[in-house]
Amino acid sequence: MNQQHSAAEMARLEALYGYDILDSDPEPRFDRIVRLASRLLQMPISLVSLVDEARQWFKARVGLSVAETPRDIAFCSHAIEQDQVMVVEDAARDPRFRANPLVTDNPNIRFYAGAPLATNDGHKIGTLCVIDRVPRQLTEEQRGLLEDLAALVVDEIELRRLNAQLTQLATTDPMTGLWNRRRFFALAEIERERSRRYSRGFSLLMLDIDRFKSINDRFGHDVGDRAIEHIARICEAQKRPHDIAARIGGEEFVILMPETGMSGAVAFAERLRRAIANNGFASGGDTINPTVSIGVSEGDATTAISELLKTADLALYDAKEGGRNRVCQRINGERKSG
Ligand code: GH3
Ligand code: MG
Ligand code: MG
Repeated sequence: MNQQHSAAEMARLEALYGYDILDSDPEPRFDRIVRLASRLLQMPISLVSLVDEARQWFKARVGLSVAETPRDIAFCSHAIEQDQVMVVEDAARDPRFRANPLVTDNPNIRFYAGAPLATNDGHKIGTLCVIDRVPRQLTEEQRGLLEDLAALVVDEIELRRLNAQLTQLATTDPMTGLWNRRRFFALAEIERERSRRYSRGFSLLMLDIDRFKSINDRFGHDVGDRAIEHIARICEAQKRPHDIAARIGGEEFVILMPETGMSGAVAFAERLRRAIANNGFASGGDTINPTVSIGVSEGDATTAISELLKTADLALYDAKEGGRNRVCQRINGERKSG
C-alpha cells in the first residue's frame, strides 16, 4: 500500500477483499437491483459501488459507462463514512463537491443519494447509490426503498461468497487444495470434449508415493499427511497452468495434460519424479524424502477417462514392480519401458 491507512480502513479493505468480488464479471442479481433502484426512484444513474483502496469499482451500473473512478473524487467514499443514507441535494452548491470533476464534467452529478453496504461484520464496503443530473430531494419513502435495496445487495454479496465456499468444498481436496476425485472426472470430460473439437490428444500421469506406509509407521500419520501436502506442492509448482492436478486417493495423484502426447508427458513425468526425489522436507530433525512412481497413458476424444486411468494404473504398477521411483508408460494397455 502506498498510503498510510488506519487500522479500521485496513480491516475494511481486508473484509472487502475477502469477498473476492472486485473486477469480477457482471452478474444479473446485481444488475437487477440497480435497474430496480433506477426505476423505483426515477433516477438516470444507479450503481453498486465498492470502495477499494484507491478507486471505487462498480459491480453493477445503469446510466454510466465507466467501470471505476479514482477514490478521491468518489461520492461513495464519503457515503461509507456514515451509517445512514448520505444525500447531496445539489452538488454544485455543496463545498465538498462543487469543484469535483464528476460534477463539473461528465456525468455532471447534481443529486446523489448513497446507502452504505454494511456487511454482517459491520464493514462498509461500498454503497448502493442513485444519481441525477438535476438537483433533487429524497423523500422518506425513497430513502426507505434505497435502504431496502442496499440490504438486498449485501444479502447477494454474502450469498455469492457462501456459494463460492460451497463450490470450493465440493470440488477441492481440503488437505492439498488440489481438485478432488469427483471434480477431476468432470474436468477430464470437459477436456475430452475439447480434444474432440480440436482433434488433439492428451496424456495422464498417475502418481503413487513409494513405501508410504513406512513413512506413516516411522514418523507418524501427521508427518505422512505433510508428505502428501509436500508432494502436492511440487506437482503444482512443476505443472503447466492448464494441466489438471487432482488427489484421487489417499496418496495417489493424477495430472491430466491437455494437448500433450506420450513423449512430452513422459519427459514431464521424469522431470517431476526427479524434482520430488531431490526435494525432501524437514520434520523434527529428520529430513523426509519421499519418492513417487509414475504411470503414464495417453488418449484422445475416443478414450473413456476410466480407460485412461486404468492404463495409467497398469503403467504405475510396472513402475512399482520395476523398483519404484521411476516412470513407466503404457500404450493401449501394452507395456513399454520408460
Ligand atoms: P507402494 O510403494 O507399493 O505404494 O507402498 P505404500 O506403502 O505406499 O503402499 P500403498 O500405496 O498401498 O499404501 C498407501 C498407504 O497410505 C495406506 C494408508 O495407510 C496410507 N494413507 C492413505 N491416505 C492417507 C492420508 O491421508 N494420510 C496418511 N498419513 N496416510 C494415508
Ligand atoms: Mg497407493
Ligand atoms: Mg504408495
